[in-house]
Amino acid sequence: MKILVAVKRVIDYNVQVRVKEDGTGVHTENVKMATNPPDDNAVEEAVKIKESGKAKEVIAVTIGEEKTQETVRKALAVGADRGIHIKSDSYLEPLGVAKILKKIVEKEKPDLVFMGKQAIDDDCNQTGQMLAAMLGWAQGTFISKIELKDKVIEVIREVDEGLETVEMNLPAVVTCDLRLNEPRYASLPNIMKAKKKPLEQLIAKDLGVDISNRIEQLKVEEPPKRKGGIKVSSVAELVSKLKNEAKVI
Ligand code: AMP
Repeated sequence: MKILVAVKRVIDYNVQVRVKEDGTGVHTENVKMATNPPDDNAVEEAVKIKESGKAKEVIAVTIGEEKTQETVRKALAVGADRGIHIKSDSYLEPLGVAKILKKIVEKEKPDLVFMGKQAIDDDCNQTGQMLAAMLGWAQGTFISKIELKDKVIEVIREVDEGLETVEMNLPAVVTCDLRLNEPRYASLPNIMKAKKKPLEQLIAKDLGVDISNRIEQLKVEEPPKRKGGIKVSSVAELVSKLKNEAKVI
């Protein structure tokens, strides 16, 4: 079994994101970047499956500018076997990313594609679903538990109503939730060893897919500052304020 894991480089979740003064986006210069958190869970799960003997190879793939290779190197340092970097200097929407990943899936023929449930930069939560749809594969989204059985995979989904257990035929796309596992840290010796693992580089626009963006970004602005709350002295006063001032009931 082969597992392909998609990892995206995003602004580190601890960083206070700052909107550019001209409203064209957010500051990324000299800002700490990291692997999208649920993508770390996806890598961890793939590596665990490999360690259990159920998978032979784990391939980490990323799409983006030169520096996005760091995310692949990190995946290699925690146990992925080889990496693929598809170079694209411009921002790609989930549809473009999914189309590129489809090309890589057709080339590599994995049995499973693991991804994050959502990228914390654009919060799209679309790429995995689009990829599964374009491949015609089963999809399990927001997955917090995975059990590989013979030719099928049983997954537990984190849904609004609780937990949903689904059995899917392979091949399948799985988008991982943060509750899936506890990603390991890369040790220094493994970071050094990862530098020697193979990392193939491809160019996005050479893959023969239409990756042009469909959305025009007009302006990026800070969310309005939250106004301070007030204390009410009774339930009657609360109801009155909700009714007469906030006009929500
Ligand atoms: P999104 O649909 O943008 O919320 O992203 C969902 C998941 O798709 C991420 O957690 C990644 O696993 C994968 N993904 C999105 N963009 C990229 C990218 N540029 N390179 C690699 N994987 C990506």
